[in-house]
Amino acid sequence: MRNIVRFISTAIFSATLNIAFAAPQVIVTYTPPADENLKPYYEFLKSHQALESAGKTAALLKWPTPITLETKQCNEVNAMYVPGEARVIMCYEIFKDLVEKVEAQLGHHDQNYRNDIKRNAAIFLFRHELSHAIFDIFKIPLIGNEEIAADAVAFHYSLEQKNIEEVKKVLQGAKFYFMRRNENFGDDTRYDFGAFSDIHPLSEQRYFNMLCYTYAKFPEQAEFLVKQELLPQGRADYCPREWDQLQYGVQRLIRPYAVKLKK
Ligand SMILES: [Zn+2]
Repeated sequence: MRNIVRFISTAIFSATLNIAFAAPQVIVTYTPPADENLKPYYEFLKSHQALESAGKTAALLKWPTPITLETKQCNEVNAMYVPGEARVIMCYEIFKDLVEKVEAQLGHHDQNYRNDIKRNAAIFLFRHELSHAIFDIFKIPLIGNEEIAADAVAFHYSLEQKNIEEVKKVLQGAKFYFMRRNENFGDDTRYDFGAFSDIHPLSEQRYFNMLCYTYAKFPEQAEFLVKQELLPQGRADYCPREWDQLQYGVQRLIRPYAVKLKK
C-alpha cells in the first residue's frame, strides 16, 4: 500500500504578471517492511509524519519531475538519494540504529523528548539526502566536498523555518545524530573537540582530498596510490566523480571571470 501525498505550492500565481506556475510535486511513501522486526520503525515514522515534514522542504522547489521521499527496508543501515529516479530513501535499518541509541543514551529524558529526537533526526537526515537530489537534479555547481555542502543546505532549510520551537527540535535531532557515538554528550560540557571545531577540515582529510583529486586527474601516474593502499579503494572509487564535480564547479563559477590568455 502506498501513501501518496501531494504538496501544492501556495504561490500559484504571480501577483503582477498573473502567470500560473506549475505546482511542485512531492510524493511521500512509507513502504511497509517485510521484516516484522522493522515494523515499529515504519509505524513510528508514519504516525509522526516524518516524511510529510521533510516534504515541506522539498515542496519549496520547482522539480522538473515529481520527487519521491520514501522509507523502506533496505537490508543495510543507510539513507540515500537514487540518481535517475528522483528518489530519496531512508532505510528502516538506519532509523532502528538511531532509535536504539536514543533509548540507550537518553533514558533520563521523558518519552516525548526522546520521540522528538528520533523524528527530527530523521527529518534532518532526509534534508541532507534531499540536498544531494537538489545538487544532481538542478546541476548545482559545487567546489569541495559534496557531503559538507549537503549538510550546509540541510542546515539552511532547518534554520530558515519560522517556528523557532521546530528549529530547536530539528537541531537537537541533528545534534544527536552527529554525536550518537559520544555517550552522554548531551549532558557533558567537558568534551575537548580540539581540531574538530576548527573551520578547516582535519588536515588528514585535506591530505586525502588531495590524493583523491590527483588520482582522478592522473589515473596512470597515480595508480600506485591505490595499489599500495595509500588511498583506500573505497574512497578511490568516488574520486573520478569528485574530480568531475570540481571541474564543473570551476567551469561554472570561476571560469567566467578568467582572463583570455593569448595562444
Ligand atoms: Zn550524503
